[in-house]
Amino acid sequence: MKQKDLARRHRVTDGRKFRLEDVDPADTAGLDIEKDDARELLADSIKDLRKLQERLYAEGRWAVLVVLQAMDAGGKDSAIEHVMTGINPQGCDVRSFKQPGPIELRHDFLWRHVAGLPQRGKIVIFNRSHYEEVLVVRVHPEILEKQSLPPQLVGDDLWENRFKDIRAFERHLANSGTVVLKFFLHISKDEQARRFLDRIDEADKNWKFSFGDLEERKHWDDYMAACDDMIRSTARDHAPWHVVPANNKWYARMVISSVLTETLERLDPQYPTVTDEERQRMKAARDVLAHEAGL
Ligand code: ATP
Ligand code: MG
Repeated sequence: MKQKDLARRHRVTDGRKFRLEDVDPADTAGLDIEKDDARELLADSIKDLRKLQERLYAEGRWAVLVVLQAMDAGGKDSAIEHVMTGINPQGCDVRSFKQPGPIELRHDFLWRHVAGLPQRGKIVIFNRSHYEEVLVVRVHPEILEKQSLPPQLVGDDLWENRFKDIRAFERHLANSGTVVLKFFLHISKDEQARRFLDRIDEADKNWKFSFGDLEERKHWDDYMAACDDMIRSTARDHAPWHVVPANNKWYARMVISSVLTETLERLDPQYPTVTDEERQRMKAARDVLAHEAGL
């Protein structure tokens, strides 16, 4: 199995044929982390990423937006940690989106996300994203009420309109040189229970346990239906979703770094070239410096 194959295995470029229930959250593509080839693949995907990201930064033409969505305890944090080990922190920012505050609620739903987009040469990771607007807001209609939308705009076509707006937003980003890579870390309901239990049983994980997460778990089926619709409605060529089997954290990490590596390889960013004139000026500067240093 090569990184390229792993990246493509979970990519959804035309959501219209997609069904979340067809994805096994425990899938590992036949790889086993106890075996050397999987460990090598994991290490390689990070090593390659480091080199490619430097070129992305140096070239300064493309930007990369990584969108991470998951159910609670889906492993977003550990995925971010893993990707960050492969990147120069100066070239990457993480933005976490929580419940919107009063100022954010007075704006359209994309406003705060637009403000967090990456500039050219950079990678930005959205830890939760504008997609919460068709997930948590859809599962809990009372959240929508807080958004003070004019009542004429809150009809049966609200969610379809949001999907249309998101598609247009991401199309605009793609046309401007921002590559949009979306990941849904897919865990099973049982795996979520196991992870919550760890948070209760292990003292140094207690801080991660939240009673609110237990409340949300009661809406599991509604979330799955909303996720399925989200992927079907917004996975397109210019902004694919990667539906990552995430019951095994090592596998989810490997898929994410493989997708990033494969994407950057395709962009093939180049270091800026030096013109003849610049080379001449550098040579002159070199003579001055060498003279000053007595070399
Ligand atoms: P972790 O629990 O791993 O620290 P998290 O992303 O779950 O990470 P929390 O602070 O627990 O962070 O939760 C953030 C909450 O904010 C989530 O429940 C999410 O659904 C909610 N949220 C994010 N965006 C919106 C939004 N646009 N409208 C309403 N709620 C939102
Ligand atoms: Mg949480």
